[in-house]
Amino acid sequence: MSRQPSLIVIGGGSSGLCTTISAAQHGARVHLIDKQAHLGGMLHIANGEFSGAGTRRQRARGIDDDPERHFADVLRLSHGKVNRDLAWLSVSQQGQTVDWLDDLGFEFHPATPGLVHGHEVYSVPRTYWGVDYGLSVLRLLERLLAPLVASGQVTVHLSTAVTGLITVDGRVTGVRMRRADGSGGERQLAADAVVLATGGYDANPDLRNQFLPPHCASVLIGCLDHATGDGLLMARELGAAVSRDGYFIPVMGLIPDPDRPGFAVDYREAFLEMAPAYRTPYEIWVNKRGERFVREDTTSPELRERTLLEQPDVTMYVVFDEAAVQAAPVPLIRNGRGDWTKQRFAEACRTSPWITRAPTLEELARALGIDPASLVATVTRYNAAVDAGSDPDFGRTVLPARIETGPFYAVTSVAASILSRDGLRVNTDLAVLDEAGNPISGLYAVGEVLGNNVFAGDNYVGGMSVTPAMTLGRWLGTRLATQLSAGPTA
Ligand SMILES: Cc1cc2nc3c(=O)[nH]c(=O)nc-3n(C[C@H](O)[C@H](O)[C@H](O)COP(=O)(O)OP(=O)(O)OC[C@H]3O[C@@H](n4cnc5c(N)ncnc54)[C@H](O)[C@@H]3O)c2cc1C
Repeated sequence: MSRQPSLIVIGGGSSGLCTTISAAQHGARVHLIDKQAHLGGMLHIANGEFSGAGTRRQRARGIDDDPERHFADVLRLSHGKVNRDLAWLSVSQQGQTVDWLDDLGFEFHPATPGLVHGHEVYSVPRTYWGVDYGLSVLRLLERLLAPLVASGQVTVHLSTAVTGLITVDGRVTGVRMRRADGSGGERQLAADAVVLATGGYDANPDLRNQFLPPHCASVLIGCLDHATGDGLLMARELGAAVSRDGYFIPVMGLIPDPDRPGFAVDYREAFLEMAPAYRTPYEIWVNKRGERFVREDTTSPELRERTLLEQPDVTMYVVFDEAAVQAAPVPLIRNGRGDWTKQRFAEACRTSPWITRAPTLEELARALGIDPASLVATVTRYNAAVDAGSDPDFGRTVLPARIETGPFYAVTSVAASILSRDGLRVNTDLAVLDEAGNPISGLYAVGEVLGNNVFAGDNYVGGMSVTPAMTLGRWLGTRLATQLSAGPTA
């Protein structure tokens, strides 16, 4: 006889929201717990670019595509290093996720599906985003959640951190939790199963640096504060296995926040646009030795990101002159709101603490802590390349102007981590595995807590974080609600 199953979902980001909504829509009673005062997790800052193949939106634009071709692209871009079973489980259903959002009236950006040049590009346009980026996804999921909360099918516990998992005879039967303001002390909640949808660990440098190569320990934190790896730590206490693949690729173009050491300036406020598809580079990029290290007009995000990792302190300086500020049609700094105009950028060059300025190149070098002779030699050689129309050092072909008109400027940028590469090991039921490879009974995981390597290998692959989070969240919620209606699984 069927019974009403109960589920605890820890984390109300894209993965936890999708798990909660599908489980509740399939009859489960769900407690959704989030330590923040609001739902949405990383959707508040993310571009929210998602990918899926064979969609109605693609067909309407004459784009011929299917999940097999999407998967072939994922394998190509990830250098074959994904977890093939889990990546296919997601990719094979991602087109359905896109159509599901479409059916629900998702506010697609009119440019979608598009090719996105912030990561290595897919072979066909299959990336989508909303008019308000991640927030468009959040708005839609909150709309779906509201009637489930109103009917009592879902209870949302905000400002409530789960502090541990409760087990009985090796089975996870519930959680311990505590309100952020300390009121009510520690409480316990029981359910048939618990889902960890707690996201990544990138805002917890001590934990993050256990997974990063040692020379990358100073990479900036480019995500929101909640990503402290709680789910990973809680599961590890129960003997859960955690991957340690050793892959890391940074995000490039984030600016160190002078007010928050170790953190990047909020991505929603400002980042440096590095892709020549969106902005012609009028500058050179130099390392702490004052030397160029890659062609600034490369169309390969992977090449520039990997090359930055090889530079001292994974740090670079974007060096340009006053003539570039005046001549460049698109400013170096931008954000998703599009409010970095040429005028605003010119003003920032005069006043912003993110930008170092000096009347001469030598003084600029001194202010940055670079050997002045080295920077001058680099700029002199670059100017010769501009004059010759050819760059013998790196093969740059976009050579718009000499760098010679003071004042001279530099924006410091440090490699950044925005999402976790390693995570909990799970099987194809998304059951968390112990070190011996056996499922920990009653415990499941979905979203970034699995580590992005599962879906993107050693690279970034368009939409392959938020789309698996949503797609497998929906899949897991439906399955658990259905399976648990017959009683807790083994
Ligand atoms: C700047 C930026 C841009 C990005 N752009 C893209 C993109 O375009 N495409 C893409 O695919 N990916 C992108 N990502 C990554 C993507 O947004 C995330 O991987 C994805 O949203 C993670 O979803 P999640 O539900 O697994 O975790 P999260 O969204 O991080 O949610 C986890 C939730 O769990 C809660 N939580 C954690 N611990 C506890 C606890 N102990 N108790 C209770 N609650 C807890 C947190 O408060 C949070 O709400 C981007 C990330 C960043 C930072």
